[in-house]
Amino acid sequence: MRKTTYIMGVPFDVVKMNEAAELVMGFFDDGGSHIICTPNPEIVMEATKDSKLMNILNAADLVVPDGVGVVWASKFNKVKIPERVAGYDLCQTVFSKMSQKGNTVYFFGGAPGVAAKAAEKMKAAYPGLKILGTRNGYFTSAEEKDIIREIKSFSPDLLLVGLGAPKQEKWIYENLRFTGAKAAIGVGGCFDVMAGNIKRAPKIFQKLGLEWFYRLLCQPTRIKRMMRLPVFAVKVLFSKKG
Ligand code: UDP
Repeated sequence: MRKTTYIMGVPFDVVKMNEAAELVMGFFDDGGSHIICTPNPEIVMEATKDSKLMNILNAADLVVPDGVGVVWASKFNKVKIPERVAGYDLCQTVFSKMSQKGNTVYFFGGAPGVAAKAAEKMKAAYPGLKILGTRNGYFTSAEEKDIIREIKSFSPDLLLVGLGAPKQEKWIYENLRFTGAKAAIGVGGCFDVMAGNIKRAPKIFQKLGLEWFYRLLCQPTRIKRMMRLPVFAVKVLFSKKG
């Protein structure tokens, strides 16, 4: 039975990183197709205004917090989230387990060449990991059919979709069943990080819960998106607690 706690209507699984990764591994063997979401506070806020996104987050099989803001918000609930489970870290933990078991993955998303470069780097880091194919995230609707056909021809255990949120969550919800993949994660800009094009914040920023601040320093244009964070904090403080 899933143990969840709600933040503004979004059900988060109460799991630590390793438990989340084990759940993903379990999805490869239980016969269905599973949706994994890693919302940060911006996406939680967006879901309160986008019913389609809210429905997807409620229908997902695993929902873990990409941002420390969500972990903080859960402190006001009876059931608290034990730690941040960032999408990038979840992928790395799952890759490590998949490489030992010979599971397969397909990378879909990012600018031309990025997913392919990410695949090279991940193959080197996890030698047993079977990356069956890659495709960039820019396509016409005619090309989309071919992309789905290609993924289906591989029917990978795991499909990573990096189209940015909430586009990727909607794409997964609408198309996962046609891809033959057993599980899919919306990974945002993770291929850029895996490829080495964008650096993750130094560990000290991550430990202090300040990765968002580091990203803001590197990409000042994110300020517009981040202005939603104080609004999120105020809404959490004044919302009904779960
Ligand atoms: N992207 C894509 N297709 C699109 C729009 C975006 O593949 O139509 C990719 C983009 O190249 C980048 C990622 O989606 O790699 C979005 O990264 P961002 O960090 O903005 O996403 P977030 O993690 O914040 O959702």
